[in-house]
Amino acid sequence: MSILLPTSTAGSLPKPSWLAEPEKLWSAWKLQGDELLEGKQDALRVWLHEQQKAGIDIVSDGEQTRQHFVTTFIEHLEGVDFAKRETVKIRNRYEASVPTVVGAVSRPKSVFVEDAKFLRQHTTQPIKWALPGPMTMIDTLYDAHYKSREELAWEFAAILNQEARELEAAGVDIIQFDEPSFNVFFDEVNDWGIAALERAVEGLKCETAVHICYGYGIKANTDWKKTLGSEWRQYEEVFPRLQQSSLDIISLECQNSHVPIDLLELIRGKKVMLGAIDVATNTIETPEEVADTLRKALQFVDADKLYPSTNCGMAPLSRSVACGKLNALSAGAEIVRRELKA
Ligand SMILES: [Zn+2]
Repeated sequence: MSILLPTSTAGSLPKPSWLAEPEKLWSAWKLQGDELLEGKQDALRVWLHEQQKAGIDIVSDGEQTRQHFVTTFIEHLEGVDFAKRETVKIRNRYEASVPTVVGAVSRPKSVFVEDAKFLRQHTTQPIKWALPGPMTMIDTLYDAHYKSREELAWEFAAILNQEARELEAAGVDIIQFDEPSFNVFFDEVNDWGIAALERAVEGLKCETAVHICYGYGIKANTDWKKTLGSEWRQYEEVFPRLQQSSLDIISLECQNSHVPIDLLELIRGKKVMLGAIDVATNTIETPEEVADTLRKALQFVDADKLYPSTNCGMAPLSRSVACGKLNALSAGAEIVRRELKA
């Protein structure tokens, strides 16, 4: 990246109220058929514009064409029955009714490639595209076919690799895999989770990122966070193996979280997409607060490897709060850029 401290968001941005009910996850679409397709593209245009207006350097689609970061991808696969539902505990945290894996999984056609081409046509800036990671995918399903979390993860990794290769060909600069599960299932992450993720990025020439967070600012997550104590050391379990992995960028949560900043030492050498915006509060950070978080990270991350970002997606926030946070991120990064150049 030619610019110092290039800014980006972790993923989702709020949906306009004419497209889907705002400030809600899994919100139903308000349009149908061709109108829905056009509506999604218009929403993507709106958020591309807002990101540009705020001065965000690496832009995304804001996940405007998908209902949810995991389920929308899975909906496009064969082998999963969405009518057959079972209740499972997601990330050992909250119960949800999920679809069932009923046969061999496969990807009959690309999922997001047309959307990525659309974004590519509308900007010359670097673009980032998010996909769910294999472990987070299996954690959102009931598996009645493979009956092995690891086996299903390897199948998904191969499918994700097909999608990622097509996204790369469409001009995506950074492909990000969302793996909040990496903060929960430490033994599996180290046994096969990171290896499965490396399978998903096999052969890619574009940059690759893994996003590991403490989740959206929804109640199930904020309740869980209250049980984690005063120091959140979850990253310590997975960073050493990730440091050795083939992934280029590690995206993590930092602003207002109880993650000890010195854990960044464990991934020294990797690029770090650092969450300097809290997505679990409507309070908009001041540029100085953002700058402060970035300065702390610079003790452990070389300046040319620090990518200021948000803790997680902002889908559940209002549009005005999300825009305010984009501006704060940009302004905070600019403060530190000036300091570094001085
Ligand atoms: Zn996240």
